[in-house]
Amino acid sequence: MSSILRVQNLTKSYQSGNRTLTVLDNVSFDLQAGDTFSIVGPSGSGKTTLLGLCAGLDRASSGSVYLNNVQLDNLTEDQRAQVRNQYVGFIFQNFQLMPTLTALENVMVPMELRGEKGVSKRALELLDRVGLAARQHHYPMQLSGGEQQRVSLARAFSNQPKILFADEPTGNLDTETSEKVVNLIFELNREKGTTLVLVTHDLELAAKTGRIIRIKGGSVVSDTITADRVETSSR
Ligand code: ADP
Repeated sequence: MSSILRVQNLTKSYQSGNRTLTVLDNVSFDLQAGDTFSIVGPSGSGKTTLLGLCAGLDRASSGSVYLNNVQLDNLTEDQRAQVRNQYVGFIFQNFQLMPTLTALENVMVPMELRGEKGVSKRALELLDRVGLAARQHHYPMQLSGGEQQRVSLARAFSNQPKILFADEPTGNLDTETSEKVVNLIFELNREKGTTLVLVTHDLELAAKTGRIIRIKGGSVVSDTITADRVETSSR
């Protein structure tokens, strides 16, 4: 097994006038490829900040992040974007689809940015995978929240990510729809061995992952291996 995400003494502070606000304080953990992992904790405890640093969306004030053995800390924004394009899928609570593009076009965007050719066929296959082939020409505002989240999943799957980060992936969805989205995320883990890192308020969802860290006030207050883990089959 190899380490897919190593976080060492990660600290993030913001400067507000002459005050320093430390929102993450000395966080460390190590994930192996194929692990499923949740970050839980109260609102404002630093979960989204931690996820963004791990995915290379932002830079830490101190400490290190190694993603697939690439150290992110000293990379430029462009270099971090390249690492993300190569290894990372990201889904957001509010979906972040482009409103002026259809479902199919939204899935095609990252593929085109990577310079891939003939992407519409693969994008349609991905939409089919999440049950939305028939909605390919719909714009986000013509789709329900659950459908938009599934489009964003198809988009996140488009680079066959080694690691999928999801920030409250079911936060805006009803129970039935959130079950569908969760099943798709775990299918990716079982079939492709994709590492899952979820930020969630939903403790039932967290319990489906192999490990849960709880953060409070920017620090890790517990780190638990769960009994009820969803086994991965393709490590
Ligand atoms: P959570 O995801 O657990 O709700 P966040 O990571 O979003 O928490 O935020 C943690 C803390 O960091 C909050 O107090 C928030 O106000 C603060 N914060 C987040 N981003 C910034 C920023 N760009 N500048 C200043 N403070 C920020």
